[in-house]
Amino acid sequence: MTTSMLPSSNKHITMDMETILHMKKGLGETSYAQNSSLQKKSMDTLKHIIIDSAIDVYISQSPDCFTMADLGCASGPNALSLVGDIIKTIGGACRTSSYPTPEFLVFLNDLPTNDFNEIFVSLPEFVSKLKIGGKTEESSSPLVYLTGVPGSFYGRLFPRKSLHFVCSCSSLHWLSQVPLGLFDGKNKPINEGKMYISHSSPPTVAMAYFKQFQKDFSLFLKSRSAEVVSGGKMVLAMLGRQTEDYTDKRTTYLWELLAQSLAMMVSQGEVEQEKLDAYNVPFYAPSVKEIEDEVHKEGSFTIDYLRAYEIDIRSGNAKEDGRIISMTIRAIQESMICHHFGGEIIDTLFQNYTKLLTESVEKEEIKSVQIGLVLRRM
Ligand code: SAH
Repeated sequence: MTTSMLPSSNKHITMDMETILHMKKGLGETSYAQNSSLQKKSMDTLKHIIIDSAIDVYISQSPDCFTMADLGCASGPNALSLVGDIIKTIGGACRTSSYPTPEFLVFLNDLPTNDFNEIFVSLPEFVSKLKIGGKTEESSSPLVYLTGVPGSFYGRLFPRKSLHFVCSCSSLHWLSQVPLGLFDGKNKPINEGKMYISHSSPPTVAMAYFKQFQKDFSLFLKSRSAEVVSGGKMVLAMLGRQTEDYTDKRTTYLWELLAQSLAMMVSQGEVEQEKLDAYNVPFYAPSVKEIEDEVHKEGSFTIDYLRAYEIDIRSGNAKEDGRIISMTIRAIQESMICHHFGGEIIDTLFQNYTKLLTESVEKEEIKSVQIGLVLRRM
């Protein structure tokens, strides 16, 4: 549901993600392009599964044109990284076997305000790197047709039975909206002082988040079920939980520390308490079981692989890690924070956040949990 479909009394409590949420544009110091190394690390943990799954589909279907989509591609080096690896591997495998090299149709999807231009500008370099084995003759370059698809993956994006392969990394933990249940009948925020599920949140907060996840993920599966050909596959990676505990620290601490950084600004009179109380992130880290249940309910995919695993996001240098994590979250959250609180708070807020993160990394292990999922369309 978008803001425009809500009763007017609810309008101030939720944001229209399709027009607001975007990773920081461009190539500047605070851009997503310069601050997405942690997402690349997460992507790399599943890279072999993504490539193997794509090859599997290619071999079983042998299409003249292999059609794939990366959902939530963002901008910067990660946007073309996976599709490039898939094209190179399938192209290379075809050269050393009897399979003809297919043409490739690549759909890069993200929300409409994503910096698609930044991706398109880097296309010539991308295509030149696809030349297998560095050969320069024309025949060694697979034919790749690439197009941007602006829109929400919580809904139909592609024609029926048009995709052989879908991948999505670090995107499906974003919900379509902040859950409406985070405000009571009088529009008063119930998750005061917090921005995600926390130990101090009333139980209804976790329920509101979980319900929104169920609604969104089932719509995602239903939409892809129409679009993926029988025998096609989807490889999905998102932040998640290894336990059923909604407040598992590994999925909540980054939001806890960001709420604390805002609370510091409230005590200095730079942010209003009510603004902090009303701010919540449209994020949910599901458990393996919660994902499995939705896949079974939807019914058109079989699960080839489903696992939650820890990723250590530290490098050994607490100060550097504090800075990297802070810049990562800033590149992701800046659009929403500026919309809600105003742009003038952003530098101080993230200075506070870097400080809290650095102290926290010095004291304890910081790990995040990722869920890897491979689905096959029946
Ligand atoms: N896949 C990239 C980007 C991850 S950042 C990587 O691994 O680095 C998450 C991306 O998902 C953002 O660009 C965000 O705009 C996008 N996103 C979030 N919700 C979305 C939705 N409903 N539909 C399409 N894209 C979405």
